[in-house]
Amino acid sequence: MRLLIIGGVAAGTSAAAKARRNDETAEIVIYEKDTYISYSSCGMPYYIGGEIDEAEKLTPRTPSFFKHKYNVDVFVCHEVLDIDKAAKTIAVKDLTTGESFKDHYDKLVIATGAKAVLPPVKGAKGDHVFTLRNIGDMNRIKDYISLKKPKSALILGTGFIGLEVCENLVRLGLEVTLIERLPQVTPGLDKDMSLYLEDHLKKNKVTVLTGANVIEIKKDRVLLEDGREICTDFILLSAGVRPNTELAEKAGIELGITKAIKVNDRMLTSAEDIYACGDCTEQFHIVTGKPVYRPMGSTANKTGRITGDSITGGNLTFRGILGTGIFRVFDMVIAQTGLSEKEAKAEGYETVVCHNIKPNKPEYMGGKEMIIKGVADNVTGRLLGVQIIGDEGVDKRIDVFATAITFKAGVDDLFHLDLAYAPPFSTTKDPVMYTGMILDNAIHGDRKLVTAEELKDLMESGKDYNMIDARVLAQYEKDHIETASNFPHETLRQSLKSFDKNTITVTYCNKGVTGNAAQNILLNHGFKEVYNLSGGHKHFRKIFKRINTD
Ligand SMILES: Cc1cc2nc3c(=O)[nH]c(=O)nc-3n(C[C@H](O)[C@H](O)[C@H](O)COP(=O)(O)OP(=O)(O)OC[C@H]3O[C@@H](n4cnc5c(N)ncnc54)[C@H](O)[C@@H]3O)c2cc1C
Repeated sequence: MRLLIIGGVAAGTSAAAKARRNDETAEIVIYEKDTYISYSSCGMPYYIGGEIDEAEKLTPRTPSFFKHKYNVDVFVCHEVLDIDKAAKTIAVKDLTTGESFKDHYDKLVIATGAKAVLPPVKGAKGDHVFTLRNIGDMNRIKDYISLKKPKSALILGTGFIGLEVCENLVRLGLEVTLIERLPQVTPGLDKDMSLYLEDHLKKNKVTVLTGANVIEIKKDRVLLEDGREICTDFILLSAGVRPNTELAEKAGIELGITKAIKVNDRMLTSAEDIYACGDCTEQFHIVTGKPVYRPMGSTANKTGRITGDSITGGNLTFRGILGTGIFRVFDMVIAQTGLSEKEAKAEGYETVVCHNIKPNKPEYMGGKEMIIKGVADNVTGRLLGVQIIGDEGVDKRIDVFATAITFKAGVDDLFHLDLAYAPPFSTTKDPVMYTGMILDNAIHGDRKLVTAEELKDLMESGKDYNMIDARVLAQYEKDHIETASNFPHETLRQSLKSFDKNTITVTYCNKGVTGNAAQNILLNHGFKEVYNLSGGHKHFRKIFKRINTD
C-alpha cells in the first residue's frame, strides 16, 4: 500500500506514525510545503516572550528523524497542488527547484490544517502586521521585536492565542492594547466569566477595548470605526482560523456545514480512499451530536492517530469533542469544556447554572479562589458544560469535568467521585464535588438557584419579592444589592416573622455558602419559593457594578 499524506505538523505526522505502528510494509510519504514539521505551535507564544529560550526546542523532529524512527519519507518544501481522484494521483510541486511531478496513492490523507483569518482591514499587509500560525510567523515576530524594539503592541482578537501572546509581550515590556469586535473578551466563554478575565487583563495594565472595530491600519496607528485612533508599533491579527480546504474542494470532496472537510467516524471523507484529519476537518460535539469546528492540537493528534489506524485496518473510531480548552494569562488560568450557558440555551436545554466559588486547597495551605460555572440540564440532570477561572488546579478540575461529561454523568454523580485529597492539592470535598452538590440540590431538591442576570430581571419585573442579605451587618453596610434587607444568617431564625412565606424570597451572602444556609432555614420553615443567588454578592457585583450614589 502506498499512503500519501498532505501536511506534516500534528495530524499528518500522527497519522503516519500510527500507520507505521500497525503496518511495517506500507510505503508512507508526507508532503509538507513548509520547512518545519511536527512542531509545537502551542509553545510559540512562550518563545516570543522568552519563557522558552531556544526555537529548536519547539522543532525537535526532522525528516531524518521520521525516516529513522518510522521509515516514513518526509518531503518538506513540497506543495500538493491537485488531487485526481479518478487516477488516484496527486500533483506535487517542489518549491525549491520549481519542478512538478505526480505521485500515486492507494490511500490519501489530507492534513492541511488551518490558516489565520485575515480581517478585511485596509493596511493589514504592512510589515509591522503579523499573524501567528507557524514557525516562520514566530521567527518573523521574534526578529521584528529584537530588531525594531517596539514599545507598544495591538492585538486584534481575544481568543486564547491573542491572549497568550499578550501575556508574553507584556513580559517583554510592551504596552499592549487588545481589541475585540464583540462586546466581551474571549467570546467562547459566557459573558459573566469573561468579565473576570477582562478585569485581570486590566489589572495587568493591558488596555482592553471591546465592541471595537478596526477599519484601517497605518504605519504607526490604527483607526477604529468610532473615530478613535490608537498608536502602535506592532500589530498581531489573531481573529481566529479557517480550515485549509482548497485542495479538497477542488477535488470535489464534501465540506460540512462549518465549511471544514466532512469526515465519518473513521476519518474517511466523501471520496473513496481519501481521509482527512486535524484542523482541516469538522468534528462533532459529544453533548449535542452536532457538527462543530474546534481546531485544537489535542484533537489534531487524536484524529491523526485514528486516521492512521483506520487506513491500516484498525478499529479506532472518533467519538467527538467537548471543545475542552485551557490557557493561562499572567497568573490566571481559564478553562472550559462542554456547552457554555449561551450554547446550552441556544440548543433548547432548560438550564440550571451554578457559580461555585471555592478555594483550590485549604486556606492554611495558601488556597486560592476558583470560580466554577457549571451548566446542567434541569430535565435529565445531566452535566452539560463547565467553565473555570482560577489559578493552580484548574487543569485538574476541568479534566475531571470533561471526563464526567464524556461519560454522560449526572450532576449527582460528581459528589460520589473518589477524588484524590491531601491539603497541598485539594479540599476534603473537592470543588468538583461541591459543584455537583449545588447543581444536584437545585435540580433534584428544592434548593433553587438564581443567576445574577435572572435576579436583575426579577428586580426589574415589578413582581413582589423579598431579598435577604445573610451576611454580617458590616459587609451589608459596605455594599449590598439595592433592594436587599440585612438579616444575618446567625439571627435569621428569630426574624422569620418579618416575611411572608408565600412571597418569592432570594437569599445571598458573599459567595453562596451562607446564602444557601439561609435558604435552608427558610425552606425548612415552610417558605414556598426560595432562591439562593449563584456566586453570591461577589459574582453579582462582577456583572452589575455598584452605582455609586454617595
Ligand atoms: C500560537 C498557537 C498556540 C496554540 N495553542 C494550542 C494549545 O495550547 N492547545 C491546543 O490544543 N491547540 C493549540 N493550538 C492549535 C494547534 O496548534 C493546532 O490545532 C494544530 O497545529 C493543528 O495541527 P494540524 O496538523 O491539523 O494542522 P497545521 O498545524 O495547520 O499543519 C498543517 C500543515 O499542512 C501544510 N499544508 C497545507 N496545505 C498544503 C499543501 N497543499 N501541500 C503541502 N502541505 C500543505 C501546512 O504548511 C501546515 O504545515 C495553537 C495554535 C497556535 C497557532
